[in-house]
Amino acid sequence: MHIKKHLGFTGLRKMLSKRFLQVEDSRNPDKTEYRLHDFFMTGFAMMYFQDPSLLTFQRRLQKAWNLNNLKTMFNIESIPKDTQLRDILDQAPTDELEAIFSDYLHQLQRNKQLESYQFLNGTYLIPIDGSQYFSSKKLCCPGCLIKKSKGHIRYHHQILQAVIIHPDMKQVLPLAPESIQNKDGSTKQDCEINAGKRIIAKIRKAHPKLKITIGGDGLYSKQPFINELKTAGMSYILVAKPTDHKILFEWVDELTGLGDGKKLEIKMPKGKRYVYEWINQVPLNGTADADQVNFFQFQIINKADKTTYKNSWVTDIAINKGNIRDLVKGGRARWKVENETFNTLKNQGYHLEHNYGHGNKNLSMVFFMLNLLAFYTHQILELTDPLYQKCRQDFSSRKEFWNQIRCTFRFMVFESWESMIKKIIGPPDFMPP
Ligand SMILES: [Zn+2]
Repeated sequence: MHIKKHLGFTGLRKMLSKRFLQVEDSRNPDKTEYRLHDFFMTGFAMMYFQDPSLLTFQRRLQKAWNLNNLKTMFNIESIPKDTQLRDILDQAPTDELEAIFSDYLHQLQRNKQLESYQFLNGTYLIPIDGSQYFSSKKLCCPGCLIKKSKGHIRYHHQILQAVIIHPDMKQVLPLAPESIQNKDGSTKQDCEINAGKRIIAKIRKAHPKLKITIGGDGLYSKQPFINELKTAGMSYILVAKPTDHKILFEWVDELTGLGDGKKLEIKMPKGKRYVYEWINQVPLNGTADADQVNFFQFQIINKADKTTYKNSWVTDIAINKGNIRDLVKGGRARWKVENETFNTLKNQGYHLEHNYGHGNKNLSMVFFMLNLLAFYTHQILELTDPLYQKCRQDFSSRKEFWNQIRCTFRFMVFESWESMIKKIIGPPDFMPP
């Protein structure tokens, strides 16, 4: 089986190591027993296996064999203590972690894996969406968002996530997240739309030449945000609801009445109908500097003539009969951020909201990013690694698969991840009585 060298586990792990070794270490060298690399990598390994007892079992192996899998697979020289891990990562900067998301993407690009994600005029569809990953009545840090209601205070951490998706591809490719958090010493609450402007600039800086179509919900279909997209040279498909866009919808009604609107109806099985409607060059709002945008909406109507789905969007892409169905697919695929990314991270074994530790400074963000990197690593292996795919096929569920991997990882030392997977898919051992 051919494994693309740089996209196999060891190749990806080396990319992580390279960045972790570059993180500036501000600790006193006389008092440092462990490499900073080892703290990051230990945190990553915990997320990779989603195993809170990871360190305990590897210490047992170390004691018995003077070797353990964190050393052989993750290049961790010595296993740090739990409290130390949290203390050090709490103070750690996140810049190098952000760079890894670009490293991974560049590697996918170099290995021609990104091509299958091209969508709509060869651009990459990147929806952005916000989510909360921490909430507490007691624990807080200077970055916490603060919500007060009925005399109670709650502390939150939210994240804005951008993800490369393709409507027909199962795997999603996350870009570096943008935290929605308060700046040191500022009393002003940060918000998703501001984080949205920051993430656009950040994506463009990290990927100057990538052709991009940004997807977003109704929060983003406003002129100031569209201006940011234009500056960054990005296209967009943004939800536009009648309640937020009175004037736009008045124009749509009026121009449709004049015969400018276009419609495409497709008969589907079970008496269902897909109804596509669009109109190009409509003012986004009533102000003098409003952009002319292209508007489209989509409905699913069942055989009883009832609308079971309806949504509407604006885009800068000129709409025609040839691309309307793809535009709708692109607009609707935004749920992949919510469902395939956040939902997986929260409910499918990544324990995103589980309290790995909040810390006093960066800890919750560092753990969030390491968790996302573990998810991204799994997505790449799922996409490109035949050994991983073969092994995954042997198990009925994701959960079963990871239970087996955790179990094997705990009780035997392997020279590499690849040799462990080969062992799992190989013939079973016989233990004489
Ligand atoms: Zn906090």
